[in-house]
Amino acid sequence: MGARHGARMIPATYERAASVQQALHALAGSSGSSDIRPIGGGTNLLDLMKLQLVTPSRVVDVSRLPLDRIEAREDGGLRLGATARNADTAWHPLVERDYPLLSAAMLAAASPQIRNMATNGGNLLQRTRCTYFYDSATPCNKRTPGSGCSAIGGLTRHHAILGASEQCIATHPSDMCVALAALDASVHVASVRGERVIPFGAFHRLPGATPEIDSTLAADELILHIELPPAAQFAAHSAYLKVRERLSYAFALVSAAAALEIDAGGTIRAARLALGSVAHKPWRVEAAEAALVGARPGPEAFEAAAEALLQGAVSQGQNAFKIPLARRTVIRALEAAAQGTVDNQGNPRPHPETQA
Ligand code: SF4
Repeated sequence: MGARHGARMIPATYERAASVQQALHALAGSSGSSDIRPIGGGTNLLDLMKLQLVTPSRVVDVSRLPLDRIEAREDGGLRLGATARNADTAWHPLVERDYPLLSAAMLAAASPQIRNMATNGGNLLQRTRCTYFYDSATPCNKRTPGSGCSAIGGLTRHHAILGASEQCIATHPSDMCVALAALDASVHVASVRGERVIPFGAFHRLPGATPEIDSTLAADELILHIELPPAAQFAAHSAYLKVRERLSYAFALVSAAAALEIDAGGTIRAARLALGSVAHKPWRVEAAEAALVGARPGPEAFEAAAEALLQGAVSQGQNAFKIPLARRTVIRALEAAAQGTVDNQGNPRPHPETQA
């Protein structure tokens, strides 16, 4: 196996892990001089290898490990296996029934072919789609630390309005992760050193002075599964709205995940809100959700939530439009969620239990 660039091949050995332990022992050998990567669906890693943006010496195939199950937890939550495919996750009856926000977000992503291949773990680890990152002829701090950021002062239509640094203004491209952030997921990982749980909000990181590091996952760690706490209370009022250049197979300019629990008296009892494609990680702000709790659904509460969520937003030039666009997207997502649950095109989505 090798990565092609012009006529030059960079060799990488391929091995299929027969067990989780075998995969962890293989990853334990990863170091600065020996980059060993797990591969699931390969929908991002192989692109990166072809462009020589990532040049592992070994890839360890984890796609056939028994980590592909989607299972109910005893507490009413859900466990999503790391190697379960995105399509299988989005269409799973328990995801559709209790986590329609996640289902809608996942079905807004990529193309059916990619969703059939891409794994849940890989979705979390996909790299930014900043065009300069993929163009090795240009400086990029994320690709080559210390080389500079070509996006600053360059083409910034898709770049961050929140949480950026002087070293990097890239955004995280995932739709799934925006819903997972809103739903308070946690990421369960393992290495030969043991297992640990990473709250979703601490999994991805802001670029700061080290934009080459996307997440808090160590090089020798493998994602085992993602856990979702019970969220059936949000199933009747959720919306994932993705604004993009074309209707399918496009990354978001801005996306918003909104979920509300509305009591019998019409007051918001609990709220979840996150923005996608505006920062280096899904963007969630406690004060934005607090602005909704105890309020009646309506313009006043929705505008207050949007304002809190976008506090500190700054333009990087060409992406100035994203600030008002994000505000409108949040408000529209909240309006849709208040009315019921919608699919990612904003169409009403009958709850599975009420379908004929
Ligand atoms: Fe590289 Fe980040 Fe700058 Fe894009 S925004 S060129 S990824 S450093």
